Amino acid sequence: MKRGRSLLTGSVQYLKGVGPRRAERLERLEIRTGRELLYHVPHRYEDATTVDPIAGLKPGDDATVIGRVVSKGVLQTRSRLRVFHAVIRDETGMIECAWPGRPWLERTIRKGDLLLVSGPVRFYHGRQLQPREHTMLARPDDSTDQGAADGGNGAGGGRVFPVYPATEGLTHRQIRTIVDANLEALLAELDEADPFPAAWLRELALPPLRTALSSLHQPRVMAEVEPARRRLAFEELFYLQLLHARARAKLRLETQGISFRAAPELTEPFLKALPFKLTGAQKRCWAEIREDMEKSTPMNRLLQGDVGSGKTVVAALAMLKAAEAGFQAALMAPTELLAEQHHRSLCELLDPIAMEPQLLTGSIVGKKRAEVLSSLAAGSGRLAVGTHALIQEAVEFQSLGLAVIDEQHRFGVEQRRLMREGGGGVDALVMSATPIPRSLALALYGDLDISVIDELPPGRRPIITGVRGESKREAAFEFLREQLSEGRQGYVVYPLIDESEVLEARGATAMRDELARRYPEFQVGLLHGRLAASEKESIMRGFLSGQIHLLVATTVIEVGIDVPNASVMLIEDADRFGLAQLHQLRGRVGRGADQSYCVAFYRGDSPPERLQVFSSTTDGFVLAEEDLRLRGQGDMFGREQHGVPALRFAELDRDRQLLEDARRRAREIVAEDPDLARPRNRRLGRELTELYGGREELYRVG
Ligand code: ADP
Ligand code: MG
Repeated sequence: MKRGRSLLTGSVQYLKGVGPRRAERLERLEIRTGRELLYHVPHRYEDATTVDPIAGLKPGDDATVIGRVVSKGVLQTRSRLRVFHAVIRDETGMIECAWPGRPWLERTIRKGDLLLVSGPVRFYHGRQLQPREHTMLARPDDSTDQGAADGGNGAGGGRVFPVYPATEGLTHRQIRTIVDANLEALLAELDEADPFPAAWLRELALPPLRTALSSLHQPRVMAEVEPARRRLAFEELFYLQLLHARARAKLRLETQGISFRAAPELTEPFLKALPFKLTGAQKRCWAEIREDMEKSTPMNRLLQGDVGSGKTVVAALAMLKAAEAGFQAALMAPTELLAEQHHRSLCELLDPIAMEPQLLTGSIVGKKRAEVLSSLAAGSGRLAVGTHALIQEAVEFQSLGLAVIDEQHRFGVEQRRLMREGGGGVDALVMSATPIPRSLALALYGDLDISVIDELPPGRRPIITGVRGESKREAAFEFLREQLSEGRQGYVVYPLIDESEVLEARGATAMRDELARRYPEFQVGLLHGRLAASEKESIMRGFLSGQIHLLVATTVIEVGIDVPNASVMLIEDADRFGLAQLHQLRGRVGRGADQSYCVAFYRGDSPPERLQVFSSTTDGFVLAEEDLRLRGQGDMFGREQHGVPALRFAELDRDRQLLEDARRRAREIVAEDPDLARPRNRRLGRELTELYGGREELYRVG
């Protein structure tokens, strides 16, 4: 639809009832254009569809009514209680409302205000309603035109009153009035045809865009609201997935990958020699990876699995597959210590088939280093393990085919950049030990393929977790002494107090001194973020070798160090940690054959729900889902982060199905028409550009 000036794209200033001053205030809500006003939807509603007619109220009723204030004032009872009174009227009659002890309402409630009140009706010189709650629905001088001044919510005329996010100098009612005055014109400017095919809307039971926006701003009944929200949520998720899908397709088109196909002369003997059978989840992930590697497009896959779920075996299989096809494979770890640890476990796993990966870290120097480098350059070194930095910057491979990236922490923007720039056509497999809910993973990493090991190898003894108040500290520290006396090792984790590393280091140091006095027979080590990297390493080595029995640490130990003899962890002020972090911490114990224990201390009278959940399960995915539920996505996903935009309408726990659907449809479209050039996809491309125009780079990964 063509017009001289578009209300949708033009400044909000020119809309009815706005003007420069209000436009300035609207801008604080990030509303600059008509379209942005249209998408500024209410955050809640006052549902007045079930109000009682005033005439019918009887003493003893619990009533909800809407009426306009016809008179008001403050009276004083004999006992000197000041009571605010207001008489309100609807089409059927009048009733007096009384707010004992709240005389200040005199200043906020005015004659002519339309009030929604609810509370008990009693008999007191006639019928009187004592509101438990009241809401002002409209005030005559909010309005910019006569139509909206009266009664219901303007054009819709319904009895569900939207409440908008507001800002200083602009009340939610004023925003409602502005929306009411302009909604029809704005909706009329939207294209007649919905951007989504009618079949989609039918299959997903979603209303068309115009209907949805109209329902959100002016619902006639509350039941209209949720489908309308879902429609906007789908739209939001779909375009984000479309963005991801295009990034993925672009990578695939531009980069010729390697198709690893060869007789399984390494993988097969390796599997035969394993002292255990792969779990179902490992088999599934291995099949997914194998299929990716055989395709000629480069693999870009995230392998997610809890600590101890057996990612290393799967990674080893992938590395062997690359090797048997005549390519080299490298595993990169974030620290030297982790690289060494990976090297050790790979050596053990690969020993039966007589393969030995080359280790390359900063401490490998001199002649040894020269040997490693030349074997990798010549291709005789088929497998390598090293730190990220070394492998990326300093090493020449004869024919690198696969990079396995171990990212113990949350897989971040940096890694994605590396994957993008990493290497023309090299397959990339990223391992993450941070379980995140699938919905979150899809939203964050929609451009990657994801494999999840959601099953632990059989026979693991779950860590026994206790949640204890301050009064039980003594007993817990005695228990720790018993464990240490039996030859085990332990951790005491000291929390981040106020984001200050200095204070934290000081607190942890004091704790170490205290514990050293308490346990004179044991070696107590200290690990915190203020230590130099070399100091940290030497402490960790002391702990690994068993010279240090007890390690007092801040959260720096989160990063995946594996000390099988450590069987007990005490976490101070555990209520300060999020569930995901607690889970990561606890994963440091329970890695050996002994029964392991974790004690989480809290301050206060009773443990927060989070800690109860924490002690009830050791399944990282269950905890991650709970974390999402308890914290809400706002915390994890509210702001632009991880290189993805914030979600406004979608709620990841509720809309998971919608998200899966959005992803599937986005990928289907892009598979057929990567440039969105076909007539029926052009509109989607235009919308995408409008949403992310110029910022695609920011969110693009692949
Ligand atoms: P992750 O890297 O996911 O933390 P690992 O690969 O280090 O886990 O595996 C943890 C331990 O479990 C290792 O000792 C490994 O040998 C063992 N393991 C792996 N897969 C299985 C399996 N399917 N059955 C039994 N033990 C397994
Ligand atoms: Mg491939």
